[in-house]
Amino acid sequence: MNKPRYEVDTQGYYGQFGGAYIPEMLYPNIEALRERYLAITSEPSFQQEFQALLRDYVGRPTPLYWAKRLSEKHGARIYLKREDLCHTGAHKINNTIGQILLAQRLGKQKIIAETGAGQHGVATATVCALMGMECMVYMGKLDMERQRPNVERMRILGTQVVPATSGNMTLKDATNEAMRHWINHPTDTHYIIGSVVGPHPYPDMVARFQAVISEEMKRQLIEKEGNPFPDYVFACVGGGSNAAGAFYHFLADEHVQLVGVEAGGRGIDSGESAATTALGKPGVLHGSRTLLMQTDDGQVVEPHSISAGLDYPGIGPMHAHLFDIGRVTFVNVTDDEAMKAGVALSRTEGIIPAIETAHAMAALDQFEFDKDDVVVINLSGRGDKDLETYIKWGQY
Ligand SMILES: *Cc1c(COP(=O)(O)O)cnc(C)c1O
Repeated sequence: MNKPRYEVDTQGYYGQFGGAYIPEMLYPNIEALRERYLAITSEPSFQQEFQALLRDYVGRPTPLYWAKRLSEKHGARIYLKREDLCHTGAHKINNTIGQILLAQRLGKQKIIAETGAGQHGVATATVCALMGMECMVYMGKLDMERQRPNVERMRILGTQVVPATSGNMTLKDATNEAMRHWINHPTDTHYIIGSVVGPHPYPDMVARFQAVISEEMKRQLIEKEGNPFPDYVFACVGGGSNAAGAFYHFLADEHVQLVGVEAGGRGIDSGESAATTALGKPGVLHGSRTLLMQTDDGQVVEPHSISAGLDYPGIGPMHAHLFDIGRVTFVNVTDDEAMKAGVALSRTEGIIPAIETAHAMAALDQFEFDKDDVVVINLSGRGDKDLETYIKWGQY
């Protein structure tokens, strides 16, 4: 039997998913990236600068914390990988640091990005300030109204936030307008995508930058458990970048059970959810063939999640493939279950998680563990940004 394949192939495919479905005008940009990303990111000088910034600027390695009370509650040995302690409060900065170093080596002077809730926009604005590069972030006009603090954070950091006024004035429209800008400014501008989505080579490139998460986990598990392999790794999945990073170095080790947690919203039968593996079918979204929620005639279905970071109608092609071949188990939890798990973690461990992350926490209730099972949950971000949502929900 052939060994299952987890990495991307040279055409940018993970099994039947992936590729680069882009307008012809973008070929030169995507080609340049595809030809050079592996060579550039493996240069010693790149790695030196990347590792130094991850250490001294982001604050890596992030701790792997043994959660004693949570472990007692669930009857397993539970560890939290503390990405919430990264500078700017989540894993997203691992990727934006990597991409800005790459952009510099490609000779680009300007950065563009799109953002929905604003978290990727803030992580991008941060690294642009750090490097003294000009930055424009496209954001739906409606999202700008809903996510005012992040808009102002980006502005304080010196980024120009550009309202997208087409369509529903949300993430999809911001993405379209950022793409249009890139088409018109191909030579001086790099487009920083914030998750393992988009045309090849973005999914693979972002996964590699985030892979530092599982690389550290292995080292830390050797120290704490005498064995690099946990029994389970849990991560929430929006586009899938924190999950890709948390799974990456365990993919070939079939005895490690990998669990991706999607947003069930108001329930997967409610018509208001973002549970792509439960509801999606193959199609093309944002430049790659992947699973996405769509109507019978192929219109993208508007997703819903209480968490802005999981409110996305697709998943990255790598995850679509891992779902397809059964390497990753996907489950979903509702808005309410996630909110309860967020408050529970706050009271059990004194850590208020991002609501995205609270989904990963809530999934623990769907599993029966042995008391010796080593379970790692990727704590993708902190809850400061979500205070309004906690307050509105109110049940604490
Ligand atoms: C953006 C975000 C996510 C979702 O994005 P992925 O690419 O799926 O990781 C999850 N958690 C936090 C804290 C986020 O900010």
